[in-house]
Amino acid sequence: MQSQNELRNILQRIDHRGYPAYKDTRGAYEFPGYVFSIDHVQGDPFAAPSKVSIHIRGKAAGFPENLWKEKCRRVALQDYLLRQFGKSLEKVSFQAKGSGKSGLMAVSRPGQEVLERSACELDPKTGDIVLRMEIGFPANGRSINAGELEKICFKFLPESVRKALFYKALNAQEVEAVCDLSEDQQYIRKQLRELGLAAFVANGSILPRESGISGRPMKNAVAFTAPKSLEVTMELPHHGSITGMGIKKGITLIVGGGYHGKSTLLKALETGVYNHIPGDGREYVITDDTAMKIRAEDGRSIRNVDISMFIHDLPNGKDTVSFYTEDASGSTSQAANVVESMEAGTKVFLIDEDTSATNFMIRDELMQRVVHRDAEPIVPFIDRVEELYRKQGISTILVAGSSGSYFHKADCIIQMNRYEPVEITEFAKEQAKQFPLPEQKIEEADAPDFARRVKPDKMIKEDNRLKIKTMGRDGISINRETIDVRYVEQLVDSEQLASLGYLLKYANQHLFDGRKTLQEVTESLYEIMEEKGMAAICEGSYLPCGLAKPRKQEIFACMNRYRRLGL
Ligand code: ADP
Ligand code: MG
Repeated sequence: MQSQNELRNILQRIDHRGYPAYKDTRGAYEFPGYVFSIDHVQGDPFAAPSKVSIHIRGKAAGFPENLWKEKCRRVALQDYLLRQFGKSLEKVSFQAKGSGKSGLMAVSRPGQEVLERSACELDPKTGDIVLRMEIGFPANGRSINAGELEKICFKFLPESVRKALFYKALNAQEVEAVCDLSEDQQYIRKQLRELGLAAFVANGSILPRESGISGRPMKNAVAFTAPKSLEVTMELPHHGSITGMGIKKGITLIVGGGYHGKSTLLKALETGVYNHIPGDGREYVITDDTAMKIRAEDGRSIRNVDISMFIHDLPNGKDTVSFYTEDASGSTSQAANVVESMEAGTKVFLIDEDTSATNFMIRDELMQRVVHRDAEPIVPFIDRVEELYRKQGISTILVAGSSGSYFHKADCIIQMNRYEPVEITEFAKEQAKQFPLPEQKIEEADAPDFARRVKPDKMIKEDNRLKIKTMGRDGISINRETIDVRYVEQLVDSEQLASLGYLLKYANQHLFDGRKTLQEVTESLYEIMEEKGMAAICEGSYLPCGLAKPRKQEIFACMNRYRRLGL
């Protein structure tokens, strides 16, 4: 460890020299109250910014143990510190000047969800804090402007660190409230199991967002109110009593006229697998955290998936027990999404008619009369939905605006009426009696075969200069191969995609061996992340700042969309 003066000396020595001399600054320096570590230095002023980290001893940071000993509270605290630090950086970023990215000071910018991120980690034993960020090392043209970096390291950064990362500088009540909320959220999630619920939406929740590109709550929205018949009340450890709509396990149908708020409710349930920040409006919208959005995804690749419970006897004679395609249709893609989600351990399917393949969801009576069953390879989801719940314990929450067929199958029917849910189960069931489903005998399906063993991909395994990039929230590219995850809708942050890239690489190097199944591999990946942190997955000389932890379900989803996966 060097002193801060040594950093000053290095800076003075390399001032005005060619940019690569910045590499000499690599190392850790002792500042009052923290250690400043320069982990990776950019090659030139226009390249990706340099990576640095700030290390604060638990004792010095001073956060009381009750804020971080429990995992859920720690994750919330990490997220809060990151947001506070980000806010204070906004004021100083680019205050230091120069060419290219000179003067940039940036840290991860979380959205509405609270995720575990490499950008801020608290050690569960000691309370030590690590904050990882990027700095654009300043230059004039291509020569070093050390004076500007000195301003960053000795003025801007210390100020932000002091303001945002020490307990005594923060609003103690606010910090406590953030941690308490996360504990309440965890409590609701546990209660779902106890109460036999798939999801809970508290009264007063604000579900719609400000706009299609904003995660913030809509102003003047109609607040959520549960129908009396579906009311559930819980005693939360901090918030106290809370009442809302409990969606029971089983088959739930959400109906209603166009524009009455059906998809908005489903969307809230989709992101309810994550915790949300205070003020989001969906703080107390909590969904079973294995829930998966299921949709059609034409054009995706499918590798060795047993979709035979939905599709068999294809006209081209293709095997649907071990189904492969480079270009799936609406129905085959949705069938694969269902089966892969089962493999990933989901207990709740979330489906919106708007984004489904109609022929996968239903087949009406007239069509059944005209096109005989023997000429139809698809057993639609409606003929499996009860069986899935009865035999596999998988619930379905389905939004349907145009087809009434599911009235016959649903255990609970909710109508959205001007953004207010009304329970109409009895009424709808009564009406449905006049439109009986045609008698037909559908044989029960065998459970799909999940013993998919994965062989490593040579390209990844043998290329030690592998280029992994993320394309926003839409895709991951590995060398020139793109994994399209646009329709994996519960990925909420591009940093989750960055993690998925590393996870795929790690799995290739260490886990795919032709013997382990995809389930086993994913399980191991998750265990490694839980026990050793994300650094174990990255294996580099330092842990990059821009990684957020995905769910197990999204790791599966990513692997399943990798067109070179050795299946
Ligand atoms: P549906 O799926 O029933 O057609 P959407 O959920 O897409 O309807 O909602 C239609 C519109 O109404 C959207 O623009 C949405 O933002 C808005 N909206 C949804 N819920 C509310 C609410 N509680 N208060 C105000 N506006 C809402
Ligand atoms: Mg809709």
